[in-house]
This record gives sequence, structure tokens and C-alpha cells, in this order.
Amino acid sequence: MKKEDILQQVIDAGALPTLSTVASKLISLTARDDTTIYDITKLIAQDISLSVKVLKVVNSAFYNFPNEVGSIQQAVAILGTNAVRSLVLSFSFLNMERPREPGSFSYEKFWEHSLAAAVSARLLMAKICSDDTEEVFTVSLLANLGKLILAMAYPDTYSEICRQHSEQQRSFYQLETAKIGADHTYIGSAAAQHWNFPESLSLPILYHHDPDAYAGADKVMKRNIEVVYLAGLLSNILYSGQPIAYHRPFREQAKKRFNLDDQTIDDLLRRVNSEVAQAADFFGIKIDGTPSIPELLQEANIELSLLNMSYEQMNRELVHAKLQLEKLTAELEKKNTYLEAIANLDGLTEVYNHRFFQTFLEKELNRSLRRDLELSLILCDIDHFKKFNDFHGHQVGDFVLKEMCRVCGEQIREYDLLARYGGEEFVFVLPDTGAEEALIVAEKLRVAVENGEFYYEKISYRVTASFGVASLPKGGKVKRSDLIEAADKALYQAKKKGRNRVEAYQEKSGWFKRK
Ligand code: GH3
Ligand code: MG
Ligand code: MG
Repeated sequence: MKKEDILQQVIDAGALPTLSTVASKLISLTARDDTTIYDITKLIAQDISLSVKVLKVVNSAFYNFPNEVGSIQQAVAILGTNAVRSLVLSFSFLNMERPREPGSFSYEKFWEHSLAAAVSARLLMAKICSDDTEEVFTVSLLANLGKLILAMAYPDTYSEICRQHSEQQRSFYQLETAKIGADHTYIGSAAAQHWNFPESLSLPILYHHDPDAYAGADKVMKRNIEVVYLAGLLSNILYSGQPIAYHRPFREQAKKRFNLDDQTIDDLLRRVNSEVAQAADFFGIKIDGTPSIPELLQEANIELSLLNMSYEQMNRELVHAKLQLEKLTAELEKKNTYLEAIANLDGLTEVYNHRFFQTFLEKELNRSLRRDLELSLILCDIDHFKKFNDFHGHQVGDFVLKEMCRVCGEQIREYDLLARYGGEEFVFVLPDTGAEEALIVAEKLRVAVENGEFYYEKISYRVTASFGVASLPKGGKVKRSDLIEAADKALYQAKKKGRNRVEAYQEKSGWFKRK
């Protein structure tokens, strides 16, 4: 259905509020050029209760005139015809008889929100220029009248629109267009035309959600439309239930359109809710009121941060923390393992150090004794290494020590141990290995050293070494120090017999045998 047809449906359904006689007469009077202050005064004076109300407002802090305004004539003279017309219209709508609430649409809330928009417009106008503030007050008050009319004409659909607006945060404009076929700006402005409102009132109603759509050249009109638009944003901070969603746009638009600075904006935000309460009092309507905008924003921001910390997020953060901890633990374990490892290694040759050898031998010896296993120890000492150093230098000596370890390490099994015993002496622990087998291993080691060519800065170096072997036979019993001493004795024999050879400890006393 076309917008125009929707409008006709609305009118046919009797959803347009009836304007009071004084208000509608006042509109036609003020539209004419030959109207005098006297005509207007006479019209308003016909309605005594309206006259009293107008005078009450004119004399209230709302206007803050220095002297008391004693008559409607004086009021019209001081305020001007447009302002008085606006005032009468405002009264006319605010005191309009309230029909049955259409669906879930709340009349009270609607007028409270509208009054807040009107007060916002007045406050904004006062910040922008000293022009007549009554026109924007009235337009803002009536800007959303289309909502009320649509809610009256389509109560069920409008309840659904209100619900979706708050749940899905879709704009009224979109929802009304989609569900009814005409939005409240169109309906509101058409109603204004129906009541013969001047364009200064009906056009801002049409453009109050999209001020840039106004293509006319009238600067005052353009400014008023923008003020009504801003007032809508400002009142939405108070009444939309989504203060944060309107706060930023309001600030941005106020700066962009009227160059308002932060201080001015902050002042507006602080004052608006109490000004609304005052205005409600002057116009004789009851409102619930709201906390101030700074309070609302603070509350909403706290809620937002709590909301952001949803269960899922907390969970995510916990998982993240746990993963981080696991990663740190793994890194720490790796570091510890590395530290442990290097604590057991010899710095130069990177084979096990003396301390580790002693611990290892102790463990292996005990294990062998417990299980009646054989165990062999080979001590190895490089021949004439002192001379070697003296001749080739310590650096080459160091290199050879490392290379010798590499070559020897390649000759032994995975569970054998090679350690630096000290200086140019090394020790091999061969678990589960008897004397005969150990002699073969030692010989293999000797040959590997003898045949090893160690290149340092392109020059090849060779060394030989002597080996002493001591073995624990099956069922034998011996102390760690005895076994080492025996291997040392064998090594001494190897040196004595000319070096570059292997000697085994000859068991004469039989102390290796279990007693
Ligand atoms: P032998 O055949 O009797 O074992 O004679 P040797 O010269 O090897 O024995 P000696 O005990 O007299 O000297 C050991 C030498 O080993 C002396 C020292 O310079 C050398 N040496 C010990 N530790 C290191 C080391 O870490 N680096 C180097 N370059 N030389 C070392
Ligand atoms: Mg030595
Ligand atoms: Mg030596």
C-alpha cells in the first residue's frame, strides 16, 4: 500500500487526535497577515483555563522574565505570536484527553519522552542563538506524534514494532516502513498539514530523523530541522534505554552541525533531565523523570563492561590463561631439563662430568650387585698429552679432547656412559658387560683413537691413549672406589708397558669375588 493510502486509513480509523478549538483557530489566525495581537489575545482569553496555564508558564522560571507578565496581551506582546501559538499548541497536546492505551504503547512515556525532546530543543537553541526557542520546542514536542497515531491505528503491529525496536535495536523508521508501509515522520507531518500547521512546524516533523534530506534554501528552517534532529538524539540518551548508543552520535552531530564545544555539550547533558522535570511541572503533567545523563551513562558503561565479561568471555580468558600457564610450565620444564643436563655435562667436551660419573657408577654398581650382573669400567688417559700441548698449543689440545670424545662416543652403546674423569682422562662405564667383552671394547676405543685424524685449521693431528679395564664378575662384590682404583692400576700398567695399549686389572687377591 502507498503511504498516502496508509494516511487515509489512519484518518478513516479516527486515529488522528482532535485539536482543541482554540488551538485550531489560533493556527488559522496566525497564518493570516492581518491578524493583530488583539485578535490572538481575544481568542486565548475565551478559554480561561488555557489563559491561566499560559500565564503560569510565562511567569515561571521556564521563561525567567524579570517582571511579572500580568495578561495574555502582555504575554503575546513579549513572546511574539509564534511563541504564543507554540505554547498554546504544546498545552493543547500535553493536556489532550488520553484515550485507551493502544497495545503496549505507553501514553505517559510517549509524552514524557516528547517533552524531553522539546526541552532539549529549547536548551540547544539557547546555546546556538538567541532566536525564538518556542517553535523548536513545539516541533520537538510533536515530532514523534506520528508514532502515537500509528500506534492508535495499528495497535498490534505497533506493539510488535516497539518490541523489535528494543530487542533488535532496529530503528522505528525501518520497522514502520517494513510493517505498516508508512513511517511516523511522514504520518506526523501529514497530520500537521491536516491541522493546517504552518510549514515551520510540519517540515521539521518530516525531516527530524534525516535533516540532510531537507533540500530547501530556508536557512532558519534548515537550522530548526537540525535542532529538532539533535534534540531527538539528546532525548534518546535519556529515554531510549540505550544511552551509550545515542551519546556518541549526539556529541558528534552537535559538534559537526553547530560547532558546540565539549564544555557546552557536557553542560547540556548535565542539565537536561532536571529541566525536563521542571517543564513537566510548569505544563502540569506528571512524569517519572530519569537520572541525569552522566549517571545514566556511568550505569550503562558499568553494565556494558559486565556484559562484555560474559560467561563465554570469562571462559575464553580462563582457557587462555590456562594455555599460557601450560606453555610457561612446558618452557620451564624444558629450561630445567636443559639446566639439569648442562649441570651434568663437562663444559669443554660436553660428555658427562666427574660428578655425574660417580653418581651413575654408584647406581649401576648397586643395580649390578642386586641383580648379579656384570659391570666394567674403562679408564682412558691420552698419551704424552703434556708434550702435545707444549708442541701444538692448548687450543689444539682442547680441540683434540673434544674430537676424541666424539670418536669414542660413537664406539659405545646407548646405555654405556662416557665421562670426563679429569684433565685428559676419561672413563667409560659399561653396564652388563664382563671382563672379556670390556677388553674388546677398550681395544676398539684404542684403535679408534689411534686412527683418528683430527683436523684443526686444515692441519691433521693424531694422538694415542692408554686404557685400563676393571670388571665386576657375576656374583662379585666390590665398592665403587675399589673398582675405580682397579681400573687406575690397569691404566698404570698400560702406561708402564709402553702406552697406546689396553690392560685389564688382574685379580690376584680375589677381592672381586663375592665372599
Ligand atoms: P702420560 O702419557 O703419562 O699420560 O703423559 P701426559 O703428558 O699425558 O700426562 P701428564 O699427567 O704429565 O700431563 C697431562 C696433561 O694434560 C697436562 C695438561 O696440559 C693436559 N691437559 C689436561 N687437561 C687439559 C685440557 O683441558 N686441555 C688441554 N689442552 N690440555 C689438558
Ligand atoms: Mg693424566
Ligand atoms: Mg696423559
